[in-house]
Amino acid sequence: MGAERAKLRIAIVGRPNVGKSTLFNRLVGKKLALVDDTPGVTRDRREGDGHLGDLNFTVFDTAGFEDAVDDSIEGRMRRQTERAIKEADVALFLIDARAGITPLDMEFARLLRKSATPIVLCANKAEGREGTMGAHGAWELGLGEPVALSAEHGEGMLDLFETIIDRLKAKGLDPADDEAEDDFAEDEESEPFDPDAEVVEDPAKPLRIAVVGRPNVGKSSLINRLIGDDRLITGPEAGLTRDSISVPWDWDGRTVKLFDTAGLRKKARVEGKLEKLSAGDTIRAVKFAEVVILLIDAIQGMDRQDLVIADRAIYEGRALVIALNKWDAVEDHSKTLNDLKDRLEISLPQVKGLPIVTLSARTGRGVDKLMPAVLSVNAKWNRRIPTARLNRWLGEATERHPAPAVAGKRLRPRYMTQVKARPPTFALFMNRPGDLPESYSRYLMNGLRETFDMEGVPVRLTLRRND
Ligand code: GDP
Ligand code: GDP
Repeated sequence: MGAERAKLRIAIVGRPNVGKSTLFNRLVGKKLALVDDTPGVTRDRREGDGHLGDLNFTVFDTAGFEDAVDDSIEGRMRRQTERAIKEADVALFLIDARAGITPLDMEFARLLRKSATPIVLCANKAEGREGTMGAHGAWELGLGEPVALSAEHGEGMLDLFETIIDRLKAKGLDPADDEAEDDFAEDEESEPFDPDAEVVEDPAKPLRIAVVGRPNVGKSSLINRLIGDDRLITGPEAGLTRDSISVPWDWDGRTVKLFDTAGLRKKARVEGKLEKLSAGDTIRAVKFAEVVILLIDAIQGMDRQDLVIADRAIYEGRALVIALNKWDAVEDHSKTLNDLKDRLEISLPQVKGLPIVTLSARTGRGVDKLMPAVLSVNAKWNRRIPTARLNRWLGEATERHPAPAVAGKRLRPRYMTQVKARPPTFALFMNRPGDLPESYSRYLMNGLRETFDMEGVPVRLTLRRND
């Protein structure tokens, strides 16, 4: 992988009043942003940081194009839309499931069908029974089966997420794709995944670990500590580390490969470049790793950059360990730790129970806790849950807290199976998967995590239709 990958861009298009703004707001959450980054071009255009599941992207709609000078509504619409989809990696084309297909929708569809950009057809306002009536004619648009959504009520978001991923994959744009070193993922595909199989780990196979974090949090110091010689030297003469990218190492009889972003960064430093966090290096390290150690400077606390890295690791489905370094220099230990826990709970609710290790790379104190934490989270990340146990649990979980009824019809989660490990990924078969509220998916995922000892692991749940 050469340059760092640009952030995924998602456009929302469709005729007026189908719910584009509403969906925009939902994807962006509270952090709605009005930007004016390219004056005269993107005037009034709404653009923001969106996320859906663990997918992060820039989302924009076509509002800013609406005042383009043109006489006909059709010409205007055409230009706005063409531009939006040209700029986007994927476009969400909204129709109004209540109103049904209009001639203007047909017009849009004609444009979109010609585009090389993957299109996700979304039938919005699909909450409730009457909500889906109008979507029946959607096949006429020639854009496949629509995703039934309710932007206003937040329904169908998981379906939307998966459809986006599917479309991107079909275009060879898998956002979770890895050009470089994701070979452990390939191993798995060589044979079908069997959740009931007994897995014997091959100790000769190295465990891949990446130590990531902002500059100066102590990555080099920690790696020196772990490896026990000065293979990576902290300090200004660090040009010596320019070749150490992946360091093979032995821990308690187990081969470990350590990916060293510090060395890469220091290389940049000797070359006199501005020292800053290189997103490219970090992403490469995260992709390389099975377990990511995110090192945080305990004196400074967790900041936005740290969160971005953590988010990335979770997004890539990696097991994550938070290591709070410079513990020797912290005065109020319990306050520091509690602040961090609060921050994690608020900012990364999707991975409850992330392991946190406090240590000092300088004095060595606490460093011995790190590898046990790494191995423990790795074991959880590799967890396989026998199908029978899983379904016994599902029965109990849905009994304790039944899935809601949507429009008078009860949602019925019927059956669950693990389809993958690393990270643990489950498929839930149910009627009307598009209607399952996210709160209920979250309930199930949290339950899975607690029951099967997968705290801190990015568990994934995909919904499949089974009427
Ligand atoms: P835009 O012109 O495409 O940006 O559409 P808006 O987001 O402004 O929405 C148009 C109208 O549809 C507003 O009154 C919204 O409240 C309503 N709306 C948006 N999404 C939904 C939905 O999921 N269900 C229902 N029933 N109404 C919606
Ligand atoms: P990197 O940029 O993340 O590789 O960080 P370095 O390992 O180069 O460390 C940055 C600075 O933090 C150096 O001055 C280290 O001496 C200091 N440092 C690293 N670990 C600790 C620690 O545990 N405690 C204290 N007080 N300082 C540390």
